[in-house]
Amino acid sequence: MRTVPALPDEFVLGHLTRHLAANALPVPSALLKSFRTGVDGGSHHHARGESRYYEQLVRGLEMTEQTYKQRHTLVFLAKHTQPGVYSADEGFLAEPFVYHHIPMNFMVDDTKRPTLWKFCATCRVLDRARYGIAYWHIVHQVPGIDLCPLHDEPLHGCTVESIFQDPTLSKPDALQCIIPTPELIAANRTPALSLYRAVVTELLARPLPDGQLRLKLLALRRHGWMQSPLDSQTLRLPSLGAVINRHEIPEVWIAHHFPPIRKQWAPDGVFVDKAWRAKFLQTCHHRTSKARSDLWTNGLDLLRACLTIRDLATIQEVLWPGVASAAPDQAALEQLPC
Ligand SMILES: [Zn+2]
Repeated sequence: MRTVPALPDEFVLGHLTRHLAANALPVPSALLKSFRTGVDGGSHHHARGESRYYEQLVRGLEMTEQTYKQRHTLVFLAKHTQPGVYSADEGFLAEPFVYHHIPMNFMVDDTKRPTLWKFCATCRVLDRARYGIAYWHIVHQVPGIDLCPLHDEPLHGCTVESIFQDPTLSKPDALQCIIPTPELIAANRTPALSLYRAVVTELLARPLPDGQLRLKLLALRRHGWMQSPLDSQTLRLPSLGAVINRHEIPEVWIAHHFPPIRKQWAPDGVFVDKAWRAKFLQTCHHRTSKARSDLWTNGLDLLRACLTIRDLATIQEVLWPGVASAAPDQAALEQLPC
């Protein structure tokens, strides 16, 4: 079995696809089978599905599974104790691969979105110059982000099959990509979403131990409590309701990232601002506000923190007490538009 090291910030699905190609394995399940017939193959039956893949991907590398997960997956955005809710579906989703690989805690509904995966054209050019190939970055796959945090450029949105068709982005023109509309780009540049982008980027650069983000988010909520009547009202709402309640996040962003809500409340695609928000908030409860994706559980709480605190330094101090001023990636963060 050939070892294929992951590139910096490479998203696990792209790495896995390159690993399979290098070893002439047709489908991901073949990776597991090839190890089951090996000397120590029996033990893999008892491992959890996602862990079995990580184990293969880090084999031969100077890296633990834990470190791999922190550097190459978005699992940190999922609630630690929350079990994934996956279901079998037709076509692509029926592949056992997706069952295991929604390990990044995307859910089945996410995979039906027209633009699930994203890439930045400038990052692609720079990667090819530096590594000879381009690849899919994890920072571009964070839910709710439509601009490259490093280049402030609109991300190309691609179909669910794209990573498997072209893990090195060798022919991006052959992928069915969608560029964000000017309205969606403008929405991403509003203060709260710019701050969200900055905090998430830093979380990837300086990952917290497993489960710590959840605790830190609770600390952030306590910090923001009672700052203003609107803040305290926002903090009592479920995450998505809190975000909508602030009237600072444009509808175009909410509709793009939470399509079921658009279907429910605006079948014609036209929003009437006050009426839509009021109607949503009346019916908002924890079940609907979870917004269908595991990744959104911590992501929305993070966005809620960005709406109530609004200041990167304060959030940094809660997430990384005492080390915010010594950020190793400060130069990159200063380029961010927040
Ligand atoms: Zn970029």
